[in-house]
Amino acid sequence: MTRAPQTQPSASGDGRFVSRRELLVSLGGAAAVSSVRTETSSGFTSGDDGRLRIRVYPRPVPLWAWVRYGFEGVRDDWPPPFRDAFSAIEDAFEQVLAYARERSRLEGIEVAVERGDLVRLPLSTLSRPSEAVVPSLETVLDGFRTRLDERDLLTGSTCHALLCWAPLNHRVGYGGTLSPNAWTGNVTGQPADTGDSQTVANLGATELWDSRAVTRNMAIHEVLHTFLDTDVVEAVGGSSCDHDLGTAVRVDEETMRVSPMATAYAGPDEIGGGTRFHGTGCHDHDEFHRHDGLEGVENWTYTTELSEATMEAVTRYLEATVAR
Ligand SMILES: [Zn+2]
Repeated sequence: MTRAPQTQPSASGDGRFVSRRELLVSLGGAAAVSSVRTETSSGFTSGDDGRLRIRVYPRPVPLWAWVRYGFEGVRDDWPPPFRDAFSAIEDAFEQVLAYARERSRLEGIEVAVERGDLVRLPLSTLSRPSEAVVPSLETVLDGFRTRLDERDLLTGSTCHALLCWAPLNHRVGYGGTLSPNAWTGNVTGQPADTGDSQTVANLGATELWDSRAVTRNMAIHEVLHTFLDTDVVEAVGGSSCDHDLGTAVRVDEETMRVSPMATAYAGPDEIGGGTRFHGTGCHDHDEFHRHDGLEGVENWTYTTELSEATMEAVTRYLEATVAR
């Protein structure tokens, strides 16, 4: 796994889709999306009403996708995969809060997961032909931020998650975040206007190439990246990589069950190894919170249940930022 130079924007790089030709080329090298993100430390206040906000926005879905889902949700731009992803994100934060409160932590903190309005990327960001056809993760995130700014939604403390339908966009892959907007909350050493995080989940990809279960997990995964910084992840997991907080648990001789942060990273680094496409960010199965080994594994299942390490890390992140 190569890493992009530090001066470049860094991505969590979850799943870079490749054409067969690209794949063959890349077998000789490695995809070069980095998981390195700039160091953070604390510092943000939750919204005016004391709530931590995660706002989830749909991008337009093509007609053929609406046909696929029988036009369910077409009136409000929320097709079933987006709706289920939203519920999964809500459920993930409920798990974190339940974990924390059982331990008398994060008391008094409320989390609001809200629906945002449809986001169309500005044409100006898609002006170059290559960007119009297959926009990069950076372009999508830039356009998303422009729209949030226009709508006056950058409050300094909200996680904004964009749900995309781009099954053939190998540059976005399953989704990701980019510095300097990769964490929720004001980050020391970063410009003051970076407290709102932006993250993208490509649910057209998870739906078409994988399954609804992978859709749910990648939505959780891409949102939780914005609540996991290197210090916390290292302190909890002993590895600086968010993905290693996840688990891959053998439920029988041939079946592995994968939790959200490990999704796209639990299998062998090859096409169809677990998820259809393997993530290109950091990972080390030996450093996973739990990884039972790949020998004989033929089937993959996914659980939205977060690993204890993930819940502990998100709890610590929120304690260091919101609950101070
Ligand atoms: Zn990731």
